[in-house]
Amino acid sequence: MPASRATDYDVLVVGGGAAGLMCALTAGRRGRRVLVVEHANRIGKKILMSGGGRCNFTNTGTLPENFLSANPHYCKSALTRYTPADFIALVERHGIAYHEKELGQLFCDESSKLIVRMLLDECADAGVRVETGCSIQQASRVDGGFSIASTHGTFVVPSLVVASGGLSIPSMGASGFGYELARQFGHTVLPTRAGLVPLTLSGTHSERLQDLSGVALPVQATCNGQRFRNFMLITHRGLSGPSILQISSYWQPGDALHLNLLPDGDAHEHLREQQLVRPAAELRTVLGDVLPKRFAQRLCETWLPSRPMRQYNEPQLRAIAAILQRWPVVASGTEGYRTAEVTLGGVDTRELSSSTMQSRRVPGLYFIGEVVDVTGWLGGYNFQWAWASGHAAGEVA
Ligand SMILES: Cc1cc2nc3c(=O)[nH]c(=O)nc-3n(C[C@H](O)[C@H](O)[C@H](O)COP(=O)(O)OP(=O)(O)OC[C@H]3O[C@@H](n4cnc5c(N)ncnc54)[C@H](O)[C@@H]3O)c2cc1C
Repeated sequence: MPASRATDYDVLVVGGGAAGLMCALTAGRRGRRVLVVEHANRIGKKILMSGGGRCNFTNTGTLPENFLSANPHYCKSALTRYTPADFIALVERHGIAYHEKELGQLFCDESSKLIVRMLLDECADAGVRVETGCSIQQASRVDGGFSIASTHGTFVVPSLVVASGGLSIPSMGASGFGYELARQFGHTVLPTRAGLVPLTLSGTHSERLQDLSGVALPVQATCNGQRFRNFMLITHRGLSGPSILQISSYWQPGDALHLNLLPDGDAHEHLREQQLVRPAAELRTVLGDVLPKRFAQRLCETWLPSRPMRQYNEPQLRAIAAILQRWPVVASGTEGYRTAEVTLGGVDTRELSSSTMQSRRVPGLYFIGEVVDVTGWLGGYNFQWAWASGHAAGEVA
């Protein structure tokens, strides 16, 4: 392909994912000439694999509190100006059927492919050009903007939007490009780590739980003052399931993690009642009625010696209840970027404008989506941030 002329485009968006496409279509609708460059062979790979292939595209209850960032106020402006209702309206205009799964999480009825199709149709309508298989080799500042050397030629543009995502799932095209570019232009990049990721166990927990892989139960996971009540899944390497993925974003090596194994009731009350009703029943039988049987059995073999209920005195019942409601688990690590849904940390928001996503250091440079130090909970929040930040930049870039 011949090198492009300096005047071809007004905006170059690096990354054809959720944030990049939203930014491109918004800028395109304003009459800006927009080029999206994507180094993978396909657009929106993460959208396609999201939500188990049905894309949990937003959460109707999105609030700034659902995001982690060193600067918690940063996300407010963009989220207020492009809301879940705005994205739902777009989805409905395209006739895409959806449903609410739980807790405000909206999923496509059919396939994530429809969301990618919708974004590409909107981009085409807005005159946006999208190039796949295009890698950026170098970016530098020139008079009036940026010169970007790519495998498809050199582009000179007044606005450069970095929407290259985080480090999770490298096999889907994830790269550290955005962070490197940010550093190159003098930005601070806050330390990155895997988020919404299964936790690994070692020692007794690992040895005693490994063969229960596949067992799931509702728990409330607590770490560093945050708590999430949802299902936990035991895996052959450790713990997963929504409650664990959520709390993983708040956990760091060495941090205490506690699980309430009976999140819907008062464990002490329950044990006392059972002691009265069936004094001859063993603790493992009593627990096997409220927890998965194999898990209850294993708890009693390892952490809670089982006897007939009548043999426990009051302080012992209280001690058992305390363990059931605040079971300390020592996680040894996470499964890392290979399976993480998101990357925590990233481009420091204190050097970006919260209303436009523009760099405070380099005019014309924008950072949006996951590359920025804003990370949502599980449940559609990350896409809502991608749409909102993409829209904010698209309105001005
Ligand atoms: C398995 C999985 C399931 C998920 N499910 C959900 C869900 O249901 N709901 C939800 O809200 N969030 C979900 N997420 C998180 C969500 O996918 C991301 O938060 C979101 O995609 C971030 O959007 P983005 O545009 O910033 O980055 P991305 O969507 O990752 O897009 C970045 C794009 O930039 C491209 N790129 C990278 N480097 C370069 C480069 N040097 N040159 C050119 N292109 C480049 C990448 O190939 C990619 O296409 C899920 C994530 C995973 C991994």
